[in-house]
Amino acid sequence: MSDAEPDQEPEPIKDADAQGDPEGESDPFVGLRTQTVADQVSYAAMLDLALTPDQEQLVKTVRDFCSREFAPRIAADDRAVRHDPEIFAKLASIGLPGVCFPQRYGGHGLDYLSLGLVCEELEYVDTVYRTVLSVHVGLVGCGIYTWGAEEQKQRWLAPMARGEKLACFGLTEPNAGSDVASMQATAKRSGGSYVLNGQKVWVSDADTADFMLIFAKTDPKAGAHGVSAFMVDRAASGKALRTEPIEDRLGIHAGDVGSIFMTDLEVDEADRIGDEGDGFKVAMSCLDNGRYTIGAGATGTVRACLDASVKYAHERKTFGQLPARAADDRAHVSRLRDLQAPVLQGRVDEEQRAAAHTRGFDVQAVRRRRRFQRGQ
Ligand SMILES: Cc1cc2nc3c(=O)[nH]c(=O)nc-3n(C[C@H](O)[C@H](O)[C@H](O)COP(=O)(O)OP(=O)(O)OC[C@H]3O[C@@H](n4cnc5c(N)ncnc54)[C@H](O)[C@@H]3O)c2cc1C
Repeated sequence: MSDAEPDQEPEPIKDADAQGDPEGESDPFVGLRTQTVADQVSYAAMLDLALTPDQEQLVKTVRDFCSREFAPRIAADDRAVRHDPEIFAKLASIGLPGVCFPQRYGGHGLDYLSLGLVCEELEYVDTVYRTVLSVHVGLVGCGIYTWGAEEQKQRWLAPMARGEKLACFGLTEPNAGSDVASMQATAKRSGGSYVLNGQKVWVSDADTADFMLIFAKTDPKAGAHGVSAFMVDRAASGKALRTEPIEDRLGIHAGDVGSIFMTDLEVDEADRIGDEGDGFKVAMSCLDNGRYTIGAGATGTVRACLDASVKYAHERKTFGQLPARAADDRAHVSRLRDLQAPVLQGRVDEEQRAAAHTRGFDVQAVRRRRRFQRGQ
């Protein structure tokens, strides 16, 4: 981690036009829904572990920022179970909420790998910070970008990418976790609107988000085909929408994780994302982006463990000497190497997934195909 000056003004990340993409329009999701499975099966040759100078600069900017703004306070916040309400504003101060969205939607037009690199740096410090970006960009922003109509992107995605509005993702329910299709929240049509009723639980940033991507059944008898997706604006929802934090959690103490309660919440038809009945597909594609950011973040956690272990090995004396400097302590060196392996593997996964996504490959479809080929 760098030793940046504490009072230094945060320097926003550079736009794509400063990085050789004058229009800032390179599309990180090109072809996502148009490739056939046969097109998607071989991407072994895509792996290129070298970061571009711009990606290296991005990593440095985020790393310096995190070491200044987040690292000094996270241990105390975690112990005190205290959520810093300024996390999102801080991320926005260097432009991270719009990292991979085109400039016409308020973003910086960087590539999909840049999103993973940022998540890795955030989770190097703590899961709390990565989670905010995972949900805001990975789950909700990428969902609107992939499935939303043009005016929906302008209405919802642009203020999110500019860092003006924080979004959360309401899929899980008390009786519907892995089994998403068994959700009980309903969205009944009423003229040009829907009326939503039900509860969501374990929603990251539920208590602080301005916007919510909510999934509910428009046809309760149609299983996965009866789910639809809706954008909800907390400010316009009044008492029909209520949120509360989940107390006494086992981890992520400095985070905001909560429940959403909807009682006759009216949502305009224009705020439905995708067609009626597309909600399950929308949710799965959002989760795919979310999992990419989680995997990239996990690489940051393992890297932090490795760095802490190396530091400790250089400080701690045993049997009168420093183990890391003892030439014959092979077991010690080999343990540190064991920690190095998942960092490298995480980077490989991160870059493979980003390369696949950028070229329009559906990562889940590739996996399904491989499982099928292995007879699983
Ligand atoms: C910190 C945190 C943040 C979260 N943030 C969000 C969020 O922002 N938005 C949101 O919508 N949700 C969120 N979640 C919810 C999360 O996505 C769910 O926890 C997840 O979907 C699993 O659901 P569940 O907890 O009900 O577990 P379950 O579905 O009950 O699963 C429990 C275990 O059983 C296994 N299992 C389930 N079914 C089967 C089966 N048929 N056969 C064999 N094994 C099975 C699962 O793999 C799992 O290991 C969050 C959760 C946490 C802990």
